[in-house]
Amino acid sequence: MTLANISGVVMDMDGVLWRGDVLLPGVHEWFSLLQTRAIPFALATNNSTKTPNDYVDKLARFGIGGVELHQIVTSSTTTVDYLRKHYPAGTTVFVVGGDGLRTLLVDAGFQLTDNAQLVVAGLDPQLTYAKLKQATLLIRAGAEFIGTNDDRTFPTAEGLAPGAGSVLAAIQTATDQIPRTMGKPNAPMFEAALAILGTAPEQTLMIGDRLETDIAGAQRLGYRTALVLTGVATADDVAHGHIQPDAVYADLNTLRDDFA
Ligand SMILES: [Mg+2]
Repeated sequence: MTLANISGVVMDMDGVLWRGDVLLPGVHEWFSLLQTRAIPFALATNNSTKTPNDYVDKLARFGIGGVELHQIVTSSTTTVDYLRKHYPAGTTVFVVGGDGLRTLLVDAGFQLTDNAQLVVAGLDPQLTYAKLKQATLLIRAGAEFIGTNDDRTFPTAEGLAPGAGSVLAAIQTATDQIPRTMGKPNAPMFEAALAILGTAPEQTLMIGDRLETDIAGAQRLGYRTALVLTGVATADDVAHGHIQPDAVYADLNTLRDDFA
């Protein structure tokens, strides 16, 4: 693959730049290359519990400076963009979700209440039966059901823990309604990233570590795709799976070598 036809790059973070709190190989050199060649980039994560600020801080802790808030796309920022486009400020929202999501919704002018026109649900570390019940009653009464992201699980030090998709599944089961979901592999997050970069999808490269979300979702919108093997997917998954990225790299070092 060559960077000649690439005018923008979207990167997943966990499994691409770092794994938990461990920085992966070649990250600094890759950012240097993007900055030297003035290639615009965005960072996209399904994690709805953290704000863009949290990610700018985390990048800075790893010595990656100069990333601006608007370059960070999370399933929460994508949800807020979607709501802004479709509902006026002041619209009432019932949230089953974390503080990152709540903060962004309030900052965007939405009113968080129990008796709301919309239900936005995602990973909620303080999930209770009462919240599931309230979401169910509202959706059954006609509220739109919006999900931040589909991830059924996410990795923790103790093993796989229930993700946003598990919360959505509970509400979906109780309401017989399928949520409109914002995060990868769904289109809204990839559309949000293109809007930030101002690039056409066929000139935009998605770099990810998950075939079903990062790669399949980006391909559906017409992005070019590169898989790095520093996260979830293995070479075996690529060899035996039906999702085929344009290129596969051991890590960002080998990706950069190919592009240099
Ligand atoms: Mg990842």
